[in-house]
Amino acid sequence: MCAGCGRRAPKGDLARFTPVRDDDELVAVRDDKAVRAGRGIYTCRSRECFDRAVERRGFARGARGKVRVDVTMADELGDERHG
Ligand SMILES: [Zn+2]
Repeated sequence: MCAGCGRRAPKGDLARFTPVRDDDELVAVRDDKAVRAGRGIYTCRSRECFDRAVERRGFARGARGKVRVDVTMADELGDERHG
């Protein structure tokens, strides 16, 4: 499910981010192929949904805690629309 808009979609249709430990903090990294261990956070492949997921604290919720999100990751998502 997209952490931004709540749309349910096959995981393969969504961008996946996995919180990984970096020293004493968690950092969300793009991980569409789910090669990282951990619970993924999904958003539609759109900047809009990524931004909304950040605003709605979808990343923190998905990571069950504080997580650093590099907002420039949105640049790689493009602006694919729903549907
Ligand atoms: Zn979405």
